[in-house]
Amino acid sequence: MTVTQVALFDPKRSYAKLQSELEDAALRVLKSGRYIMGAEVENFEEECVTYLKVKHAIGVSSGTDALIMALMALGIGPGDEVIVPTYTFFATAGSVARIGAIPVFVDSCPCCFNISPSGIAEKITKKTKAIIPVHLFGQAAEMATIMELAEKHGIPVIEDACQAIGAEYRGQRVGSIGKIGCFSFFPAKNLGAFGDAGLVTTNDDALAIKLKALRSHGEVVRYDHQMIGGNFRIDALQCALLNVKLKYLDESTVNRQKNAALYQELLTFGQVAKPNIHGTSCGDACAAKPLDAIQLNKSDNTKLPVLLPLAMQSRHVFNQYVIRVPHRRDALQQHLAKKNIATAIYYPAALHAQKAFSYLGHSVNNFPVAYACSQDSLALPVWPELTSAEVSYVANHIINFFKEQVI
Ligand SMILES: *Cc1c(COP(=O)(O)O)cnc(C)c1O
Repeated sequence: MTVTQVALFDPKRSYAKLQSELEDAALRVLKSGRYIMGAEVENFEEECVTYLKVKHAIGVSSGTDALIMALMALGIGPGDEVIVPTYTFFATAGSVARIGAIPVFVDSCPCCFNISPSGIAEKITKKTKAIIPVHLFGQAAEMATIMELAEKHGIPVIEDACQAIGAEYRGQRVGSIGKIGCFSFFPAKNLGAFGDAGLVTTNDDALAIKLKALRSHGEVVRYDHQMIGGNFRIDALQCALLNVKLKYLDESTVNRQKNAALYQELLTFGQVAKPNIHGTSCGDACAAKPLDAIQLNKSDNTKLPVLLPLAMQSRHVFNQYVIRVPHRRDALQQHLAKKNIATAIYYPAALHAQKAFSYLGHSVNNFPVAYACSQDSLALPVWPELTSAEVSYVANHIINFFKEQVI
């Protein structure tokens, strides 16, 4: 079939693939009369423990609530500083502000889009109570350097793994490296629920007890409230559905990786992009540096997403496939839209430039890499059910765009 349009994401295709299994699971819960907590939740949490290679996995209401609970469990509150990247989804810093703490922004690494480790080092003070690296777009942040820094200063690390379930850093699953890991099952994430849902993970027994209590108003035993928590529970229905999808997660991750590899190949051989073996030095500890970068045309620095070297056993799960298109990002997006190709900009403004954080007094160009990424990044469709014909359709129209532009 000839491709004439490509969606950014189509949850209905993944639903159709697993329809009968999902419907069986949903009906089982509907008929059970048990909608809050219970066996469905416990089963899902056990599967997550195995999948994520972590000691405790606690189902919660969303990725945002996972972050809020992590901060609460660590006793963070007013006056405390929490280090976060500025180039991320709003919730990473929004959660910090919501519990009354101060988000301290750090710029990103131009090679892998993740928080800059040297930037973190510069921002640590006596008030720093946590560091939240985000494994952006499905690729692990530079965890060795971040953990080393955190341990040196005795600061806990909360991993925002909302976009990166199943991703690995040097053989370790994300969410199992820091003190607490936070995951989101928002439908567009790699493991998508049918509504909102999330997960917190930890290897620390005491923190696990606290997180479970926080999930239900600080209750340890029924009506014995040891602390102030909230209603951060995950639905039994979502757990039953997620348990079905979790079995297919590795398969769909492989499909995402195949789609990403196909883009990389087609754009490279279409002479729109060419590998730059020298790489662009980010001057940071980013392990992606040696393999960095692909330049589109000669004069501009357009980069395709960078994979950490395989020798490090890193596993990029491609929640997003993001290219950088300096100067011509919007023109390329419009060109693709005319061909019925949906793309997205993650993120059109870094958090330090958002009105909600204007009280922190940053100016837009305080974080030059994040600013540049917000101006030139473009996410191409990479979802697992996308066909190779659809990926080729997108790649060909990108190649055409640049050919038309070359003088
Ligand atoms: C999606 C996301 C969140 C929030 O997850 P929700 O489930 O939507 O609340 C937090 N951080 C990052 C990096 C995300 O991508």
